[in-house]
Amino acid sequence: MKAARAKTPRRPAPKKPSNPSLKDPVGVYCRVRPLSRPDQECCIEVINETTVQIHPPDGYRVFRNGEYRETQYSFKEVFGTLVIQKELFDVVAKPLVEDLIRGKNGLLFTYGVTGSGKTHTMTGSPGDGGLLPRCLDMIFNSIGPFQAKRFVFKLDEKNGVDVQCEVDALLERQKRDAMPVPKTPSGKRQIDPEFADMINVQDHCKVEEVDEDNVYSVFVSYIEIYNNYIYDLLEEAPFDPIKPKPPQSKILREDQNHNMYVTGCTEVEVKSTEEAFEVFWRGQKKRRIANTQLNRESSRSHSVFIIKLAQAPLDADGDNVLQEKEQITLSQLSLVDLAGSERTNRTKAEGNRLREAGNINQSLMTLRTCIEVLRENQMYGTNKMVPYRDSKLTHLFKNYFDGEGKVRMIVCVNPKAEDYEESLQVMRFAEMTQEVEVARPVDKPLCGLTPGRRFRNQQSVSEMLLQSFPPLPSCELLDVNDDQTLPKLIEVLEKRHRLRQMLSEEFAKNVLTFKTMLQEFDSSVVSKENYIQGKLSEKEKIIAGQKMELERLEKKTKTLEYKIEILEKTATIYEEDKRNLQQELESKSQKLQRQASDKRRLEARLQGMVAETTMKWEKECERRVAAKQLEMQNKLWVKDEKLKQLKAIVTEPKNEKPERPSRERDREKPVQRSVSPSPVPNAPPVRLRHRRSRSAGERWVDHKPPSNLPTETVMQPHVPHAITVAAASEKALAKCDKYMLTHQELASDGEIETKLIKGDVFKTRGGGQAVQFTEIETLKQESPTGRKRRSSPSNPNPPEDAADAEWTDVETRCSVAVEMRAGSTLGPGYQHHAQPKRRKP
Ligand code: ADP
Ligand code: MG
Repeated sequence: MKAARAKTPRRPAPKKPSNPSLKDPVGVYCRVRPLSRPDQECCIEVINETTVQIHPPDGYRVFRNGEYRETQYSFKEVFGTLVIQKELFDVVAKPLVEDLIRGKNGLLFTYGVTGSGKTHTMTGSPGDGGLLPRCLDMIFNSIGPFQAKRFVFKLDEKNGVDVQCEVDALLERQKRDAMPVPKTPSGKRQIDPEFADMINVQDHCKVEEVDEDNVYSVFVSYIEIYNNYIYDLLEEAPFDPIKPKPPQSKILREDQNHNMYVTGCTEVEVKSTEEAFEVFWRGQKKRRIANTQLNRESSRSHSVFIIKLAQAPLDADGDNVLQEKEQITLSQLSLVDLAGSERTNRTKAEGNRLREAGNINQSLMTLRTCIEVLRENQMYGTNKMVPYRDSKLTHLFKNYFDGEGKVRMIVCVNPKAEDYEESLQVMRFAEMTQEVEVARPVDKPLCGLTPGRRFRNQQSVSEMLLQSFPPLPSCELLDVNDDQTLPKLIEVLEKRHRLRQMLSEEFAKNVLTFKTMLQEFDSSVVSKENYIQGKLSEKEKIIAGQKMELERLEKKTKTLEYKIEILEKTATIYEEDKRNLQQELESKSQKLQRQASDKRRLEARLQGMVAETTMKWEKECERRVAAKQLEMQNKLWVKDEKLKQLKAIVTEPKNEKPERPSRERDREKPVQRSVSPSPVPNAPPVRLRHRRSRSAGERWVDHKPPSNLPTETVMQPHVPHAITVAAASEKALAKCDKYMLTHQELASDGEIETKLIKGDVFKTRGGGQAVQFTEIETLKQESPTGRKRRSSPSNPNPPEDAADAEWTDVETRCSVAVEMRAGSTLGPGYQHHAQPKRRKP
């Protein structure tokens, strides 16, 4: 086996760039994705082609003092929400593909929070292929006709490439062809519809100046960095559905040129965009399965798709690959879809997930630190150690920053307000990244062979073919014995015949090849047609469904319109009702107000009346209190008097007991008079008869209870024409208008005291009789001698004249009427207002 080792285009000592002046900053581009919903709050605006402005969402305070501030960030170019994938590809990725084909390395990564459109940008969405399929398409569009046959280039396990001799390559090809290819029952290759949608870029974009004297081969590998472990997504491990083996992590190594590579990583040689993307898709599927089976979060892993392009010049004849190993170039383009840059708490990760998140943060943090240190070293000439080795991610791409190449980054942002803080972090990092410079890759040395070998040689073959037809010799026979002309002619003709046969064989072969090619093309067209047909019928079905939905919605709309109409009518009725009710309410409230004011007036009046009554009652009470006081004084005086009389009785000789007057005298003697509350000292005694004469027309009920003494010795008034009763009688009351109760009791001095309780008779509403007591007359006998004895010691010479001695009567008069039913005794309401009278000695 004849093999040649390729030299990667990077310089041997990466720390010292070959031309330090030729450096390019990291190209940072910004892509603002559209909002998912139009009602979402937006916090990012594209100001112009290079600037975005980010402002805090409503209700967000940027500074502690509550100040509101907008921040602007500038990038190499800013792509707004309307940018299409092709536009982005043309600006960002196309130069990287051109570099790749010219043998230079490139790194392109997307950075941003989860959901900001990194995968949409890198891989694309169905029907809208991203940068990755477009890069593949451009590569194959450019090198398509100049590709080496499969297995001519062979990658070794140490990041190098060999060129195999034609025989070895042929053997490998035969081995590969013998392997069964998975096909559908119809015999056609199975196409994942989503996959087909992604790959259908139809861009026809290609590099203009491809070195046609070179042969090319493309190799792809696809790895994933998860939790700081590297996994090969293309590794064909025997699959055990019962006990799936967890994927084996790979290790990183540095080759002799200080480039990092993943050991034992599968690198697949691909000959077309479809094939390359199919390999990618295989890896993608494997990634999804692993994520599901191992319960991993895809947004937490970095995916790296590496396209390696091996190229070597044709030899001087333009037939075969030049076997000089110095002439083989291997360039690579790494397309990296980074993990979401959000902080851990964003997804509220717990346990295992937290550890993963921590590692993701760690690797992105390391990337950040590396960029910071690099920038510092470059700007201030310091020589700080860049911590590439702290994470697998930075370690893998160490030489892109340290060595030479083109690095481009697309920061993806979602303008929604919820992402504001994370977007700010992303913007800051991105702005800093573009201050880092990377050495510009040098152009590869020319191989020294004449350019245009491929086509010149192809041209000479056809010319050779034409030239190889020997010219016909002269066919003229001049002599019978000419035995040279004919054999010469025969020889030439035979030669020509052989050549012709050769050519026709070649032609037949070509026809056959062309035919098979045509057939292949045909079948591919048919499959595409079928695919399109399938798609079309699918779309038709969708349209039919949508039509039905539309009809349903129209019907619904009509129903709703009808309902709205009814509701509107009802609303008018209700409004009318409302108006009426309001009017009613107003009138009622006016009435209420009037009533309230009436009530207020009445209240005021009542209050006046109450005050008046209160005053009246107060006065009355005062008066009663005064009367009570007088009564009490009177009682006190009576007691006093009785006491004095008792004293006199005790001290007087027993024989001087006064003579008891006769009944006649009783009637004559006692001096009775009505006494007004105010004392009338010298008022003449008024006989009861005289008094009675004043009411001569009145008829009396003379109530004498049987308990009274039957003797006529005690003076008792005689009332003419009176009906005398022993017990209260309604009948008697009904006939009279005056009432008198005679009551006797023993006084303290042992004498019998007679009280005449008098009152007026009234007819009650209920048809009965009521007595209103008006006065009480007290009749008492007293010895005139006793008076002397009873004279107080303060009067040492009381008058001895017996004539002076006389009966003292005490008359009390009721001042307050007491209403009493006939037959009842004096109630508690009975009040004395008595003023005892004494005749002056
Ligand atoms: P990430 O990879 O950053 O987590 P994705 O690329 O998966 O985000 O995007 C999330 C969703 O948003 C996807 O459904 C994708 O189709 C959509 N999306 C992202 N960017 C765009 C864009 N520029 N235009 C339309 N849809 C987009
Ligand atoms: Mg993603």
